[in-house]
Amino acid sequence: MKKKIAILGSTGSIGIQTLDVIRKNKELFTAEILIAGQNSNLLIKQAKTFKPKIVVINDESKYLYVKKHLKNQKTKVFAGKKEVINVVKNKSIDTVVSAVVGYSGLEPTISAIKAGKNIALANKETLVVAGELINNLIKKYKVKMYPIDSEHSAIYQCILGEEKNKYEKIILTASGGPFRGFKLSQLEKVTPHEALNHPKWKMGKKISIDSATLMNKGLEVIEAKWLFDIDPSNIEVVIHPEAIVHSMIQFVDGSIKAQLGVPDMKIPIQFALTSPYRIESNFPRLSLNKKLSLNFEKPDLNTFKNLKLAFQAIKEGGNKPCILNAANEVVVDSFLKKEIKFLEMSNVIEECLNKIEYIANLNFKDYVEIDRKTRILTKKLINK
Ligand code: NDP
Ligand code: MG
Repeated sequence: MKKKIAILGSTGSIGIQTLDVIRKNKELFTAEILIAGQNSNLLIKQAKTFKPKIVVINDESKYLYVKKHLKNQKTKVFAGKKEVINVVKNKSIDTVVSAVVGYSGLEPTISAIKAGKNIALANKETLVVAGELINNLIKKYKVKMYPIDSEHSAIYQCILGEEKNKYEKIILTASGGPFRGFKLSQLEKVTPHEALNHPKWKMGKKISIDSATLMNKGLEVIEAKWLFDIDPSNIEVVIHPEAIVHSMIQFVDGSIKAQLGVPDMKIPIQFALTSPYRIESNFPRLSLNKKLSLNFEKPDLNTFKNLKLAFQAIKEGGNKPCILNAANEVVVDSFLKKEIKFLEMSNVIEECLNKIEYIANLNFKDYVEIDRKTRILTKKLINK
């Protein structure tokens, strides 16, 4: 039986690579539903190649255009946020690859879980915003969540087969991004163009900026807490510029297991779709014949304040990670539009965390409200 897959965000960096994995394993997977934000041309092209049952474009103004170009195909076309949330419940789907960017992934991911779908999760923001709620839903609806994020896939791979053993520490590796080793004075003037130029990974814009500010690692600490049920004080972040060791886990006897490979997201994407089994691939291999050095260093939390803020937010819990995420999404967007400088991003996030009232226990509506409030405050602080 082929696994039937819906891709939330098929036109993005992870979505495109997921389709690559599907294309190479046609006997195992079918792309049944493709969901995009606004890139109608790429969605049309994908629909012509993969012939999915349904495509959805979130941007309703593109509906007629997509429909017109797919009129000779059986593929049904829908548009708008409601359809995005609805379509992931479709009976024909086994697994939803959650690969939209940011908070917009939360509601469709919840909808898929409630419909009993397994989730292959790239959209880390879903767990950052509402990790507790998501974990409760996963238990209630008895679904599985497989990580796509390379660090979390690494940890997941390291603990497979170790179910009876306890671990004491997760060691999350970070490449350090384009500004590794920079001092505050050097960061003052960096441009979006420079920040988007990641040395190891080719990714969407938002996560590329997050990598440059180390917020990405902060979000990943929170993601790890919810995926692996570990106290954040037992998560250590190390800078590993070669991006070959994708993360490590230290067991109670002091033994450390690591997962290594070339930086290629197709490996964790494929594993999230086949887990716990592995299938063959022709992805590039890590060559150990060449001289290979692996370096590890401590992150500079005073220069890259976002990582410190993320640790604080998850330690305090409640609505703090949701505030952190919403403020971050707004400042990243503003930085890309050159409305705010690189270093100002952390200051605005910190101010939001301090100004918005703490709430310990939240339901879905509370998260929506906190996200909304934070975005308003962040914009106000940026325009101050
Ligand atoms: P991209 O910006 O490349 O892609 C985002 C995708 O989401 C696009 O297909 C976009 O559509 C779609 N989208 C955005 N908003 C909506 C919406 N409201 N409704 C429906 N679709 C929407 O991002 P990435 O692929 O880089 O990242 C996706 C997620 O995966 C992020 O959470 C990121 O942190 C995570 N991740 C990414 C990695 C990577 O290597 N790229 C690695 C690890 C994690 P369109 O383009 O058509 O507007
Ligand atoms: Mg990652």
